[in-house]
Amino acid sequence: MEFETVIGLEVHAQLLTNSKIFCGCSTKFGAAPNTHTCPVCLGMPGVLPVLNRTVVEYTIRLALATHCSIARTSRFARKNYFYPDLPKGYQISQYDLPVAEHGWIDIEVNGESKRIGITRIHLEEDAGKLIHDETQPFTYVDFNRTGVPLIEIVSEPDLRTPEEASTYLKKLRDIVRYLDICDGNMEEGSLRCDANISLRPVGSESFGVKTELKNMNSFRFVQRALEYEIKRQRAILEQGGTIVQETRLWDSDKGVTHGMRGKEEAHDYRYFPDPDLVPVLVTDEWIENVRSELPELPEAKKARFIKEYELPEQDGVVLTSSKDLAAYFEACVARFPQPKKVSNWIMAELLRELNRDDGEIDQCPVSPEALADLLKMTDEDVISGKIAKSVFEEMYATGKPPETIVEEKGLKQVTDEGEIGKVIESVLTAHPDQVEEYRAGKDKLLGFFVGQVMKQTQGKANPKIVNEILREKLRE
Ligand SMILES: [Zn+2]
Repeated sequence: MEFETVIGLEVHAQLLTNSKIFCGCSTKFGAAPNTHTCPVCLGMPGVLPVLNRTVVEYTIRLALATHCSIARTSRFARKNYFYPDLPKGYQISQYDLPVAEHGWIDIEVNGESKRIGITRIHLEEDAGKLIHDETQPFTYVDFNRTGVPLIEIVSEPDLRTPEEASTYLKKLRDIVRYLDICDGNMEEGSLRCDANISLRPVGSESFGVKTELKNMNSFRFVQRALEYEIKRQRAILEQGGTIVQETRLWDSDKGVTHGMRGKEEAHDYRYFPDPDLVPVLVTDEWIENVRSELPELPEAKKARFIKEYELPEQDGVVLTSSKDLAAYFEACVARFPQPKKVSNWIMAELLRELNRDDGEIDQCPVSPEALADLLKMTDEDVISGKIAKSVFEEMYATGKPPETIVEEKGLKQVTDEGEIGKVIESVLTAHPDQVEEYRAGKDKLLGFFVGQVMKQTQGKANPKIVNEILREKLRE
């Protein structure tokens, strides 16, 4: 039997606010344990939470960027469960009235565009962090993260392959980064992804029993965990077995998922409106204010790059894949206004070096100004295109400006006709047989002579001048 995979993602994004969602404590990462806490986020009796306005504003930004409808009234609910990192015994979240619903994100997979629905975007507070020390018979708890604002973005079950899922997740990360509302760092946990996955016979309308996957802290792991889970579920179904609805943890060392616990239903959490918090009212005016200050988003930027800089579609996709890369490109073009040439260099040389080191563009040792200066030197025939590539590698390795490297290594292109003429003379004298063959009509030998001249000048002779003088001398 043929099966179809159905995937939906639940993504948690930590918002980049300075203070927590319901108190004034700092959200700064990496402080000494339990120093960013107060009676509110420690869940002491008698305290009252007060909503951080910026948190709502960031959610409106994302809702607008993902075409959601924004609730003019939403409210917080208590999600009741006990866990040692949750001091109140409930998490403040949203249930029946989330801030935003019914949006979408378009993704591109294998050259085709696909629209992935967004069910809802809601706000909640993060829990603390448990630290398990294997050498001790107890567990530590750090409440610094308790009350850090999170938005949860729930997709429709519209994803059909692990590749679609990771593409959607990347697109969502691009958007939150463009909006400056989350740093999108999966390794540090500021962007977290859970996946619901089930299989059903092709052609079936109803969904199969799903499992929920957790603990996938990189794009690669999301893809691998989903691939593993598809295989696991298919094997069970093919043998006539049934899938148990449960939460499973991805184990990246072993490359497998483990059953963790049976799936809770919403009623297990006994949600009810939080009596300590008033409803959240969002006015049309507030929405329009946020809309007017939205930055240019990836789709719009891509369209503009293609039109304004006359770039092919693929260049537009790559260059706008991150806000920083797009800014790098534009800074470079501002100084060296040949967009296609700049784009080629970024896509080939620069991204090759960056990808090899798993580096990010904002830590690139070659500034956009330095790259522009290098391209200017090729344009003005100071160095050849081939030498420029080796200069670029040196710039990337040392951070030196191109002029210094060219000067230090004596890489300037030779354009002196007299000097080139001398080299050509010596090449022709050294290869009398080839000269005779050429003159007898074997035109292809011209490439051989050019190669010899380049070899003797270490690639520094201006190829155009070499060609001109060679033809002339061979005619004699
Ligand atoms: Zn606090």
